[in-house]
Amino acid sequence: MSKLTRRKFLRLAGVGLASGAGALGFSRSASAQSGAARIVVIGGGFGGATCANYLKRLDPGLSVTLVESSKRFVTCPFSNYVIADWRTISTITHNYAATQKHGVEVVQDTAIAIDAIARQVSLKSGKRLAYDRLVVSPGIDFKWGAIEGYDEAAAEVMPHAWKAGPQTLLLRKKILGMRNGDTFILVAPGNPFRCPPAPYERASVIAYYLKSYKPRSKILILDSKESFSEQALFMDGWDALYPGMIEWVSGARGGRVTSVNTKTMTVATEIEKYRGNAVNVIPPQMAGNIARDAGLVDETGWCPVDPRTFESKKHKGIHVIGDAANAAPMPKSGFVANSQAKIVASAITRELRGHAPFDGVYVNTCYSLLAPDYGISMANVYRTSADGIQEVSGAGGVSPREASAAFRAEEAKYAAGWYASIVADIWS
Ligand SMILES: Cc1cc2nc3c(=O)[nH]c(=O)nc-3n(C[C@H](O)[C@H](O)[C@H](O)COP(=O)(O)OP(=O)(O)OC[C@H]3O[C@@H](n4cnc5c(N)ncnc54)[C@H](O)[C@@H]3O)c2cc1C
Repeated sequence: MSKLTRRKFLRLAGVGLASGAGALGFSRSASAQSGAARIVVIGGGFGGATCANYLKRLDPGLSVTLVESSKRFVTCPFSNYVIADWRTISTITHNYAATQKHGVEVVQDTAIAIDAIARQVSLKSGKRLAYDRLVVSPGIDFKWGAIEGYDEAAAEVMPHAWKAGPQTLLLRKKILGMRNGDTFILVAPGNPFRCPPAPYERASVIAYYLKSYKPRSKILILDSKESFSEQALFMDGWDALYPGMIEWVSGARGGRVTSVNTKTMTVATEIEKYRGNAVNVIPPQMAGNIARDAGLVDETGWCPVDPRTFESKKHKGIHVIGDAANAAPMPKSGFVANSQAKIVASAITRELRGHAPFDGVYVNTCYSLLAPDYGISMANVYRTSADGIQEVSGAGGVSPREASAAFRAEEAKYAAGWYASIVADIWS
């Protein structure tokens, strides 16, 4: 955070991790006035689980039901460290016991249809849930076939590991199975996609593993883009920590991948063909299937929303948050989803009482590790109004390019603190 003191940042941020009902405009004692309105939340990840909890905190009288397909949630944040063998997957796996303790009814099922007129959600089990307000936070799905040859079956050979869980462990297995002198290829998507710095963090932590155990190995990043998040910081770090090990190829220089072949383990770009011993394809993305099936997306593949309330521009009474929403210039991150969820919980409870929503202030902080004791970060603050979402200029910033080893080590510690506090906010 180069341009801003931590205190000023937190003041501007307003609804940071430590915030609760008070910061959102209600005291708990003033709650329970909106009757037992029924709120259904689809998706128990960073956006949905936060929103369900905060709806209950803001108004314990609400009936809040969270529909989540999985019994446990494995976070994408810190999943790169599982791939690099620094952490076990159990340390990034969480359950919904605390959500239930907050008074949220957790239904383990999959939403398969939304009737926006009748205000009903149909579940795979055959059950139907009526709602007064619906919050949709299903995350992303992949554009299978956008890269020729890359479909769900191909992902079993060339994992994406862009949804955490079995894919994380599969990519880890492929990396650990590499021999000294092998090549790892990482295929990075064009914008927008989930977590802009994460492909480059992934390359870094895999480089750390390879340097430790298979130092003659190489990493080739084939990118659809011309530049990437915190590029100068990443590249400085690669030069310092892994000289000659990581090569990044931009789209214009032939990085745009057009097809893959899982039999020959080859990846073809517009210019050349490359063979990898382990290949990680991060395909182009779009809003989660349920959002698309329910007609909540536009031609971009993402969901257009009112910037103040995140209410869908397609269907009244439905709020879309997290990665599925088109909330540019906010990035698609867990911290942003958590931040949006709190503002939307506030907007819903206020509207149910006949009050106008607040103009929100949103925060994003993103830490990336290049080695266990080498962290970098970026922070941004956004404001919303009826006119849209604007980044607050002068708020936030990125780590300085010139910094001591002690500074980078401190940032790595902050990363661990960030993870512990956001997970505590959502799942405990
Ligand atoms: C490798 C990697 C590292 C990352 N690191 C960071 C980081 O350090 N910091 C950060 O802020 N962000 C990070 N992110 C981004 C972060 O993971 C996402 O932005 C965040 O998870 C988005 O939250 P969400 O609620 O939109 O979706 P998710 O958190 O993905 O939650 C969606 C949930 O909805 C459920 N679901 C979907 N459809 C249905 C349905 N029809 N019925 C029932 N349930 C359904 C899914 O099972 C899932 O649990 C990272 C991402 C990756 C890939």
